Amino acid sequence: MTEQTTIPHCPCGNQSPYADCCQRYHQGAIAPNPEALMRSRFSAYVLKLEDYLRTSWHHSTQPAELDLDRSPDWASLRILESSESGDKGRVHFQAIYRLNPGWGFLQEDSEFVREDGRWVYLQGEPQEGILKPGRNDPCPCGSGRKFKACCL
Ligand SMILES: [Zn+2]
Ligand SMILES: [Zn+2]
Repeated sequence: MTEQTTIPHCPCGNQSPYADCCQRYHQGAIAPNPEALMRSRFSAYVLKLEDYLRTSWHHSTQPAELDLDRSPDWASLRILESSESGDKGRVHFQAIYRLNPGWGFLQEDSEFVREDGRWVYLQGEPQEGILKPGRNDPCPCGSGRKFKACCL
């Protein structure tokens, strides 16, 4: 990963360029809803933006140490469901990473809260597993193509 401004597709999986997607939140803009915050946090994991992960994490659940050098080789993000009600929100997501060979996933139904007008990540119970994509499933790499026509 070189210049962040040249990333064509945002790491969060949106087809828009990074500059038009998560970058604005990384630069301080307020994420309008829990899903946008979740996407920007996933992008921050990919780009190893430790400060952003901290500031978007509720102070009561924020880990003392965040070792991003040991995080998986993230490939793509799928939002399965998201909702908000007042100052609380939930995002159920699946984050896919590369194994050698194959693919793993981390799935979580995350809770978010809005404090002082800003959504922050509160908590969730992550589940991990091995992803076994079918030939006609969307490719785990996040290209938007079918698996059989991409990384299979
Ligand atoms: Zn994005
Ligand atoms: Zn692929």
